[in-house]
Amino acid sequence: MHSNLWIEEKFQDFLGLKFKVEKVLFSGKSEFQTVDVVETKGHGKMLLNDGLVMVTERDEFAYHDMISHVPLFVHPAPKNVLVIGGGDGGTAREVIRHQSVEKCTMVEIDGMVVDACKAHIPQTSCALNDSRINLIIGDGVKFVKDTNEKFDVIIVDSTDPIGPAQPLFGEEFYQDVYNCLADDGIVVSQGESSWYAMDIQQSLLTVLNAVFPQCYLYSFSNLTYPGGLWSFTFASKKYHPVNDFEPKRVDQSGLNFDYYNAPLHSAAFALPSFVQKGLNGLISN
Ligand code: SAM
Repeated sequence: MHSNLWIEEKFQDFLGLKFKVEKVLFSGKSEFQTVDVVETKGHGKMLLNDGLVMVTERDEFAYHDMISHVPLFVHPAPKNVLVIGGGDGGTAREVIRHQSVEKCTMVEIDGMVVDACKAHIPQTSCALNDSRINLIIGDGVKFVKDTNEKFDVIIVDSTDPIGPAQPLFGEEFYQDVYNCLADDGIVVSQGESSWYAMDIQQSLLTVLNAVFPQCYLYSFSNLTYPGGLWSFTFASKKYHPVNDFEPKRVDQSGLNFDYYNAPLHSAAFALPSFVQKGLNGLISN
C-alpha cells in the first residue's frame, strides 16, 4: 500500500510536476534508463523513463493521434512506415489503423520499456503483436544507417535529447533518415515544448533545414508534459502538410479519433506569435 505516495517529475532544474500514485506496478533499471510504471490517481497508468513522464492512459491519445495521423493523412498512400522509439506501442497502434499501411517497423532501443508496457499498459501496447508490426529491439540511429528499405513515413517517437536519444536530434541521423525515405517521404519527430525548450526546437529545425526542402512545426495540447503545449516537427521531400492535405480523406477513412480531426490538422500548423518569432527563418512557407 502506498497511501500517500506522490511522484514528482523534475523538469530542467526549475520545475516539478507532482502526481498522486496509488500503486507502483513496475520499477527497473535497464542499460539505458530507469523504467517505472505506476498507477496514478488522476491520470491512470503512467510510464516514466529516467523519472520523466512518457505516457499516461488519460491523455496518450492526443500525443499518439497527432504524431501519427498528421503525416499519414498528408501522404496519399503510406504503405511502409518506420517508428523509432515509441516503446509504449501507442504510435504503432495508431499507424496500423490506416488500411494502406502494409508494414510498420518499430525500432526501440530498450526492451525493458516494451516488456513493462506489454505487462502493465495494454492500452498502448495492445497492437504490438499484430502481424503488420515488425518490432526490432535496437538502436534507431544504427537502423537508419544500415537499412536498404525505403519508407513512406518515418516517425521519431523519442525521449528528450539525452542519453541514447541524443543522436536522434542530430544532422547525421537526419541525413540517414532522408536517405531511407521514399522520394515523397515525410518524417515527423517529437519536437519538445515551445515554452520551455525553444532552443531544442531551433536546433532540431536547423538540422532538418540542412537536409530537407520543407520543414514545419505543429503543436497540440496535452495534460502531463510540462507547459501543456507540445510540438512535433514535420519535414518533407515533397508534400506540404496543409496544402497537400485532403480533409475528405479523414472522413473516408472511417476512423474515429478522440483528438485528431481534419480542421485541427490544419490549425495545428498555425503557431503563436512568440513561436513564429523564435523560429523565424526555420519554418518553410
Ligand atoms: N511520448 C514520449 C515522450 O515524448 O515523452 C516518448 C515515448 S517512447 C517511450 C520514447 C522511447 O524512445 C523510449 O522508450 C526510449 O527507450 C526510446 N529511444 C531513445 N533513444 C533511442 C534510440 N536511439 N533508438 C531507438 N529508441 C530510442
